Amino acid sequence: MSSNVIICGAGLCGTLLALRLAERGHRITLLEKREDPRKGALVAGRSINLALSDRGLAALDLIGLKKRALDISIPMLGRMIHSIDGSITRLLPYSGRPDEFIQSISRHGLNALLLDAAGEHANIDIQFGISIQHADVRHARVAGLKMGTTEKIDLSGDILIGTDGAGSDVRQGFMQIGSNIRFNYRQDWLDHGYKELEIPAGPGGTWSIEKNALHIWPRHSFMVIALPNLDGSFTVTLFLAFDGQPGFNQLNQKEEVLDFFQTQFPELVQLMPNLVDDFMLHPTGALGTVKCSPWHTDQTLLMGDAAHAVVPFYGQGMNCAMEDVRILDQCLDLHNENWSEAFNTYQLLRKKNTDAIADLAVENYTEMRDHVDNPNFIAKRQIEMQLEKNYPDYASKYNLVTFCEDIGYADAKERGHAQDDWLLDYCAKNDTRNLTAADLDKIYSELM
Ligand SMILES: Cc1cc2nc3c(=O)[nH]c(=O)nc-3n(C[C@H](O)[C@H](O)[C@H](O)COP(=O)(O)OP(=O)(O)OC[C@H]3O[C@@H](n4cnc5c(N)ncnc54)[C@H](O)[C@@H]3O)c2cc1C
Repeated sequence: MSSNVIICGAGLCGTLLALRLAERGHRITLLEKREDPRKGALVAGRSINLALSDRGLAALDLIGLKKRALDISIPMLGRMIHSIDGSITRLLPYSGRPDEFIQSISRHGLNALLLDAAGEHANIDIQFGISIQHADVRHARVAGLKMGTTEKIDLSGDILIGTDGAGSDVRQGFMQIGSNIRFNYRQDWLDHGYKELEIPAGPGGTWSIEKNALHIWPRHSFMVIALPNLDGSFTVTLFLAFDGQPGFNQLNQKEEVLDFFQTQFPELVQLMPNLVDDFMLHPTGALGTVKCSPWHTDQTLLMGDAAHAVVPFYGQGMNCAMEDVRILDQCLDLHNENWSEAFNTYQLLRKKNTDAIADLAVENYTEMRDHVDNPNFIAKRQIEMQLEKNYPDYASKYNLVTFCEDIGYADAKERGHAQDDWLLDYCAKNDTRNLTAADLDKIYSELM
């Protein structure tokens, strides 16, 4: 039976969800606070490009947009590690199998692709410039304002889904007196924030450092990363503590910024002619994890960052938000379009997995900024790659999270941690430079 579904938030999760539910025959009202992003300027301070991997691609495949997303992506085959003096640049592939890598995609480009498809669907009515301020989660009803006016909006449907991001206003409805929901909510901020900068395109739109890699300048307690864009530029992100030395709160003057980069990232000073001005102009963002429950009533559901925002260090927030749509789709199949039962099963299946990726993402920050140039870590990665190359059913923790969309994040975390512990211990105790086939067989049988 067809339902009237209100979706709040036409970001990556909400628009993909609208498309899938419309394909299932439901009538969708998709409400978005911003003006149509395809017509206006980009929102500053949101990550300009994102790492897209198999979980996100599997969800895009569900609505037939995987190929078109890949057409606007750049493959990143591994992490390119940059030492402080620029003398060592090392590529650590993401996998020992040549067909396993991730993609750099523009947030704006992907959102536009989804919005174009949604705009063409007869079952979807997209309304931009509508800010939802109140959600009655027991009765699938929302109230808000038309942006820039005093015009009030009051809408009700059979079903309400909040995909309005980490600061979700629909989520507030679960906490309101009168909803009678024992709502658990927890937000943990990192001590570190981020700032986005840019390496401009080289002459003729060329890439001035390796195009097909995610670049990392690890500096133990902070780091810079860079992802390629189609126009030859790179989006560069500095992750750094707010307080302490060095810290964002100490970098207030142009001279302090330049001195910091000249000391820590001299290579980047050469590559970024607008570094200091960009630094002063661009906002500093905070990073946090949101965990909450329950995600649903009989008529309302939270999805994507609204239900489970994670820090960006596994490159999985968007992938996970899009995977939500694939899992909800399976639950609707299982319960023959009974929303309330589908929501129940969805949360049972999904919560442990989103909790797991939230924890893995925090852990991976230490790995990216501190371990990627550590000899034991490099030895471990080399063994993992040999295992992936020689044993088709072997997958490292990174591989399980990034390339194995049929394995939940919770299983990936458990298996990945056990493998990591064993391998790090092995690397600490053995010379791993010339492993024989027999050594690899032994390691493989210990790990599997
Ligand atoms: C620096 C950084 C880097 C990242 N890198 C990656 C990466 O490489 N790979 C990856 O997978 N993920 C990454 N992420 C995470 C990713 O951005 C999010 O997980 C993803 O955007 C979540 O999608 P969403 O649709 O749930 O929420 P959002 O993308 O936040 O979309 C929410 C939408 O709801 C709208 N909205 C909000 N409030 C209202 C309201 N009251 N009424 C109406 N509309 C409203 C917003 O305008 C927005 O359009 C990164 C995040 C950050 C901060």
